[in-house]
Amino acid sequence: ADSIAYARSLIRTIADYPKPGVQFRDITPLLADGQAMQTVAEALISQANSEFDVVAGVEARGFIFAGAAAAVCGRGMVPIRKQGKLPMPAHRLAYDKEYGHDALEVSPELEAGMRVLLIDDILATGGTLKAGAELMRLAGAELASIGVVMELQGLGGRTVVPETKALFSL
Ligand code: 5GP
Repeated sequence: ADSIAYARSLIRTIADYPKPGVQFRDITPLLADGQAMQTVAEALISQANSEFDVVAGVEARGFIFAGAAAAVCGRGMVPIRKQGKLPMPAHRLAYDKEYGHDALEVSPELEAGMRVLLIDDILATGGTLKAGAELMRLAGAELASIGVVMELQGLGGRTVVPETKALFSL
């Protein structure tokens, strides 16, 4: 728990980025600390508290934590990418965002029946993880657990994706 508190202390808050009024949580100092990253990767595995075959991470910061967690537990990693980035997309899920639409895609390495640990860095409004979870189901995968490093309170994500487990909240 102390080491999670240390990881949390490495999150830097930047006011008015990317636009006025937003308090941006910058994970860069956490990424640069090897001990904290090891702690976070291991904690993402243990908080899942379930069996899984593969770790999926949402573009772009989710890739980093999903990759670290996958390496720690010896499982593979599957990237969930914004539309148009994967050379061989197998499934696509379109979803509405605050301004406009977007779509997420996954490659055929995510096979039907696989048990997935779905990871992102931050739960804010929950739109991204909700779409990621729907894409996993669309691919016929089984959602074993959803995990994030941190949850931002007051943005509604907890209601949208209630099953999400967070290492800490801000
Ligand atoms: P949501 O879809 O839950 O509103 O937003 C979550 C997504 O937006 C995550 O993929 C996360 O990377 C990004 N995000 C939203 N707010 C922040 C923030 O303050 N800091 C960082 N690093 N990412 C954010």
